[in-house]
Amino acid sequence: MICKFVKFNTRAIHSGQEADKETGAVVPPIHLSSTFKQDGVGNHKGFEYSRTGNPTRQILETNLASLENGKYALAFASGSATTTTLQLLLKKGDHVIVGDDVYGGTFRFFDKVMKNFGVTYSFVDTTKLTNITNAITSSTKMVWFETPSNPLLKISDIQAISNICKSNNLISVVDNTFATPFLQNPLDMGIDIVMHSTTKYIGGHSDVIGGALITNNSELYERLKFLQNAGGAVPSPFDCWLVLRGIKTLGIRMERHSSNAEKVMRFLEGKIDEGHVEELYYPFYSPHKNSDIAKKQMKFGGGMISFDIVGGKEMANEFLSHLKYFTLAESLGGVESLAEYPPSMTHGSYTPDERLERGIKDGLVRLSVGIEDIEDLLDDLEHAFKNLKIDIDEIKAVKH
Ligand SMILES: *Cc1c(COP(=O)(O)O)cnc(C)c1O
Repeated sequence: MICKFVKFNTRAIHSGQEADKETGAVVPPIHLSSTFKQDGVGNHKGFEYSRTGNPTRQILETNLASLENGKYALAFASGSATTTTLQLLLKKGDHVIVGDDVYGGTFRFFDKVMKNFGVTYSFVDTTKLTNITNAITSSTKMVWFETPSNPLLKISDIQAISNICKSNNLISVVDNTFATPFLQNPLDMGIDIVMHSTTKYIGGHSDVIGGALITNNSELYERLKFLQNAGGAVPSPFDCWLVLRGIKTLGIRMERHSSNAEKVMRFLEGKIDEGHVEELYYPFYSPHKNSDIAKKQMKFGGGMISFDIVGGKEMANEFLSHLKYFTLAESLGGVESLAEYPPSMTHGSYTPDERLERGIKDGLVRLSVGIEDIEDLLDDLEHAFKNLKIDIDEIKAVKH
């Protein structure tokens, strides 16, 4: 057993991952077996059937619990499967308060699927605490938010929201996908359940889809473990192994993602002065709302950065077409840099009005800054700005 007080990178590499007892293999094997022999009825080595429990999955769950400073973790086939399972804690008539800029697929599942089962959702800006307290009704059971959020990297105060949830007897859930357990540990701030899309930074190599939840609450854990088995959205042993392989470098990757993104932030700040960029969104960017809270609850700013380019949709799309190392693609958190256009890509399931209400403007570009050499990334961005054919002076003349 790895002690909780051992430091992060050591836990990432060792928690749950002792050498194989039978063979000495340093990397734990991928246990593909769907079923397990019993020596007599009910007399087994802790595993019966792989949906219920699998040795490779158990290693991943032990590891993730340790990284989030939690007692228990459950792994799922995707971040979305984790979301689905968490909603199965609720029943008809229950009400949930949700951050208004949660992951598009989370919004879609609540709004298009769960509503049909009689669960209601209020989407509020959780960066302001009174928006949460004002939304609480006698039916409210859960508060669900992301910080930093997507795509505007909005920061909510985890400790303060956890206090509100405790005093109102509400289950608090933080989707910690963007920050990862390396940068921020919501359970330490009193949050009941942390969820992740391990597809992103935790897996880290854009080659696996997965999800997980971590909690310290044994009662919630027992209910969720029952639901994991009853719902059945479990990850394959091979996928668990891939996630474990990625986790070993999570700490050093997050340091590099964050330092690269900070340099991109400074570069884009220069583009504000040059008139190319209107607004910059990054947790540790001082003018960013609640950046003081971000600095309090996060170790570094993370690898995600968004900005509004002057010239709207046309300019954003032209800018994206000039990039070479930033690949135009959805998703985030892999070693390679990605760029995307939220209004029609990740946030295309929102109506134009819903996007505007959430502050997602037509010129928004989101970058997932990878761990390549920063000089090459900055060259790539500079090249894209230099090659814009649309003239910003003309746009400004039209505007004024
Ligand atoms: C990607 C993502 C999800 C959904 O996870 P999948 O693994 O794609 O199902 C949920 N929350 C956040 C913040 C995400 O980025």
